[in-house]
Amino acid sequence: MKLLEEKIRQEGQALSETVLKVDSFVNHQVDPVLMQQIGHTFAQHYRGKGITKVFTIESSGIAPALTTALELGVPMVILKKQTTKVLNGDVYQTNITSFTKGTSYELTLSAKYIQPDDKILIIDDFLANGEAASGASRLVEEAGASIYGIGILIEKSFQKGRKRLEDAGYDVCSLVRISRLGRDLIEFEEADI
Ligand code: 5GP
Repeated sequence: MKLLEEKIRQEGQALSETVLKVDSFVNHQVDPVLMQQIGHTFAQHYRGKGITKVFTIESSGIAPALTTALELGVPMVILKKQTTKVLNGDVYQTNITSFTKGTSYELTLSAKYIQPDDKILIIDDFLANGEAASGASRLVEEAGASIYGIGILIEKSFQKGRKRLEDAGYDVCSLVRISRLGRDLIEFEEADI
């Protein structure tokens, strides 16, 4: 998606060879018009596929997941990051290690918001090692529902996330793919849409 690539060229900051900061339009301040266009682009790709819900992981995936869900005309569900296991209550949980923080959390989904006949689209801001998306997929499958696809805003293709997800049988669609990061360097390669 050229527009997102342009925005990253203008405002993205490579903090290291592995971490890209996009705080001015995705992770801290949010660009609503860009989010609307991202939702439109994902919806064009996923329309007519029988998707019943869009899932995302709090908090940076919420804005693009919401605009995508709005365009597809389906609900959006936020998977919560909780610090502890819920021992009672009707929830699905799985442990995730955060790429950026190095800490772990319990990704949590209330059983109320998923049914076995749901066909889920997962939307997230970044794909690094695939931890977050794999965890989200585990929760969906534990509930007996299916994953239609995984839509990512920014894939860092030098990390192993895509291979991990594709090896597990998931379809990954990235708006932007970054092949290399470094001081004052953000190198792009062709993305999926
Ligand atoms: P993964 O689970 O694929 O290893 O990492 C993806 C998650 O880590 C995303 O949900 C995102 O929040 C965070 N993340 C991974 N890489 C980056 C990055 O370069 N910049 C930012 N801002 N977040 C990242």
